[in-house]
Parts: sequence; structure tokens; C-alpha cells
Amino acid sequence: MSRALSILNKIFGYSSFRGQQAEVIDYVATGGDCLVLMPTGGGKSLCYQIPALLRPGVAIVVSPLIALMQNQVAALNEMGVRAAALNSSLLFEEAARIEQQLLAQRYDLLYIAPERLLAPRFLRLIERTPIALFAIDEAHCVSQWGHDFRPEYGQLYVLHQRFPLVPRIALTATADLDTRQEIIERLGLKDARVFIDSFDRPNIRYQVVDKSNSRMQLLNFIQSQHANEAGIVYCASRKRVEEITAWLADQGMRVVAYHAGMEMSQRRSNQERFLQEEGVIMVATIAFGMGIDKPNVRFVAHLDLPKSVEGYYQETGRAGRDGRMANAWMTYGLNDVINRRRMIEESQAHFKFKQVAVQKLQAMLTLCEATTCRRLQMLRYFGDNTVTESCGNCDVCLNPPQVWDATIAVQKALSCVYRTGQMFGVGHLVDVLRGNLTAHVKEWQHDTLSTFAIGEDLPGKTWRSIFRQLVALGLLTIDSEGYGVLRLTEASRVVLRGKQTVYLR
Ligand code: ADP
Ligand code: ZN
Repeated sequence: MSRALSILNKIFGYSSFRGQQAEVIDYVATGGDCLVLMPTGGGKSLCYQIPALLRPGVAIVVSPLIALMQNQVAALNEMGVRAAALNSSLLFEEAARIEQQLLAQRYDLLYIAPERLLAPRFLRLIERTPIALFAIDEAHCVSQWGHDFRPEYGQLYVLHQRFPLVPRIALTATADLDTRQEIIERLGLKDARVFIDSFDRPNIRYQVVDKSNSRMQLLNFIQSQHANEAGIVYCASRKRVEEITAWLADQGMRVVAYHAGMEMSQRRSNQERFLQEEGVIMVATIAFGMGIDKPNVRFVAHLDLPKSVEGYYQETGRAGRDGRMANAWMTYGLNDVINRRRMIEESQAHFKFKQVAVQKLQAMLTLCEATTCRRLQMLRYFGDNTVTESCGNCDVCLNPPQVWDATIAVQKALSCVYRTGQMFGVGHLVDVLRGNLTAHVKEWQHDTLSTFAIGEDLPGKTWRSIFRQLVALGLLTIDSEGYGVLRLTEASRVVLRGKQTVYLR
């Protein structure tokens, strides 16, 4: 380990190891297989870069992103480490030259795209040279249920069969229990040691607000807390990215956009501006962000509900990499849930995939409606039990929501869903409860129902919040047709029969 420390000091210029880096490096350097779960920015790269320098032979690093590889290689070369990258951006001659150098044992690290590594010709090639280790970066790409799924990742288990004596280290920042299990199975890492660093990002303050006018809410948030600071605003669609970008620009903000439908050159130059200039706001879909290492992003705002807690964690994790105070802010309402459900239904995915997607969305809703520390809830979701006390740095801790016994109101709401035939969305249901004689109400003769006007005591806003929380609690479900129709669930029967007390925010 003294050699590892001296490499850390002399080559990388850092004084000490972070988190579990030292343990991982020791383990891999002595030939062990492992899976490393560390949050974004936790320092995963050193976990294989230092063993690469400690062990004889070249370390082969599998990475899904060309841009990421190139950054790493450039940084390593600058420090005097012999590294190269093989990917589809190279001309044939360049690739051939790199392969020659590889066989001449001129590299400590070789970064490579998975499909290239798996090509039979390449596998035969590397059998002719000593290999220090295989590092499989962004290992969650092996997961079929995740949004970064790469089919080629699933074939990487052949590395173990062809090179049983070469240690393998898989790394990821996505660490919910299912994904972890899938990585272990698909990469053949059953005997591997699992290293888990805490996923807590204590300097990020998590905040979720009820959506009313999302643009104005965003503007107020930025102006009051982050004037002239760099931040990322995530939106669910390309169209919305463009609208919000134009609107923020009209408000005099320095703003650029990024989504997969834009020209490559435009995307690249917008990304450069965001990275190089101070205080630029990036409005983007989730196409933006993987591999982005800008330390002083002061806020990440979600104008639309993320698909999953994993997505939320990963996206918000781009804030405050420098360790200084940062905000993760989100505005969310029932419509977000309806839109997400429609996107799931409309996708071409397999039934099983949709089921998983709905479960992930449900977990995200539960997090949105948290009545206890949001951070604790999120960390538990990732199976991280290192933090046990409420954080004091999330909206729930700072401003504990008042909880009330809403059983009667909930019964009224559920019974209104039942009486109207489980065919309507929240707008109409609130009209019936509030006794609003709209054309729709008259047309359906819902003014004759026993639930008509039984909810006059509460304002429409409260009813909408009740319906939203009932969906989050699983007491109502959104019909899969995509029109936001609310239906009862198994769980709602117990409440309707008066057998369960319900507390709401
Ligand atoms: P990850 O891949 O986990 O997102 P990186 O490996 O890119 O994280 O590291 C994130 C940042 O932290 C980089 O700028 C890296 O140089 C820095 N870093 C990593 N390990 C250490 C350390 N032991 N001391 C100081 N800085 C470190
Ligand atoms: Zn908290």
C-alpha cells in the first residue's frame, strides 16, 4: 500500500485516499474481483487506475462513452501515464497503431468500447499480451431495466471465461438492490467482493415543491437563491427544453439547451459554454450529464418528475461536486405522474419492462410525498444504512410538513371515484366533490350523486393534493389508457370500509 500512496501523491497529486479507495485498490492490486458502488464524484477512476500502475501488464477499461474515455486518457497522458483509447471515432490507421503499441506493452491503461473489446479478433489479440486487470466502468449498463442499457455489456462475462486469472473490477454509481444483483449475475461476479461507499451527498439540499406555475416557480427559485450561478434544469421532453430555454433567455438569463434531437455540433458547443463559462444555466433532457464533471454546479432543478429514484439521484448528483452548498429543487404535481404513466404505456417496451417502470415511478412518488427526512428515505432505497439520523438539510427536516388525520376526506375522495364509475380524472372529481355545476357534471348527472358537494369544506387545491397523495400511497391508481383516469385499488377498499386511518400532508 505504500506504493499505492506514493503513486497517489506523485502522479495524481492527492495527499490521501477517499472513502474506500484504499481498500479497493489493495484488493484489486492483489488480484481480487470486486464490485464498487460509489456515488458520482466519489473517485471511482482511481480504484482501477492505481492498480493498473501497480500490476504488470495493461489494464483494459471498458467504458460506454467515447467522450468520457477521451477525457480520461487526456488527463492521464498529462500526468505522464501511458494510456490510450480504442473506439469508433478512430481512423483505421490510428487504431492499428494503438494495437501495435499494445502488443509492444507500451500502455498502462487502454480504454475501449465494449463491442470492440468483444470482437473475437481483439480478444485473440489481447491473449498475446499481459493484462493487469479488466475494469468495467458504468457497470449498470448491463441492467436491462435501467435507462443506460447496453446489450454488449451482457456479454462481458466472457472475460472471466477467457481470462480467469485476470482480476475484474466493475464500477457504478447506480446502486439500487435490483441493479446490484443484476450486475453480479450478468457479469459473473458471484464471488466478487462488494465495496459500498456512502451515497450521501450532505452538501446537497433536497427540496420538492407543489407544482402551480412551474416557470414562475423556477424563475423565483433561481433569482432568489442562485442568481448568476451555474445550474442544470431538467425537463421531460425536447419540446419543453426548447420552450423553457427561450423563456429563461427572455428573462435575461444566460442559458443554453441540450437534447438528443439537436445537431451534434450545436450540442457540443452548448455543452462547452456550460463547462467553460461562469454562471450559465443548462436546460436539458436527461440526454445531458453522463460524464460531466463540472465542480461548481450550484443547483439542479427538475421541472418534470424523474422516472425513478435512481434517475433523480444521478441527475441531482451533478450539483455541488466541489462539496460546497448546492440545491436539488423539484416542482411536481399529479399531471407529472399522469404524463409519466402515459410515456410508459406508449413506449414500445415489453410488458415486464413496463411493470418495472411503473414500480420505479411509484418509488419516486413515495419520495416526493415523504413526511420524514427525504435524504434518509433516498439512502434507504439504495440500501445505504450508513446515515441513521435525519439530515437537517432537506425541506422535510427544515420545514416539517404538518400531518393531519385525513381519513374522512380520503373516504369522500375514494367514494367519489367509486360513485362516478372510476372513469374520470382529478379535475372532474374535484368539481363533483366541491359541488361545481359544470357542463360536464350536468351532462353526467353527477349533481344527483350522494358525493356531490360533500367536499365543500376543503378548497380545490387541497383536494388535488389529497388525490396526488392517494396515488403516491397506492390508494388510487392511474388508469393505463393515459387520460389520467383514477381507479380504486385493493388497498383503497380497507379505507373505504373505515378500517384504516390515513394521515396526509
Ligand atoms: P467518479 O468516476 O466516481 O464520478 P472520479 O473518479 O471522476 O469520480 O473522481 C471525481 C473527482 O474527485 C475527480 O476530480 C478526481 O480527481 C477527484 N478525486 C478522486 N480521488 C481523490 C482523492 N483521493 N483525493 C482528492 N481528489 C480525488
Ligand atoms: Zn432531511
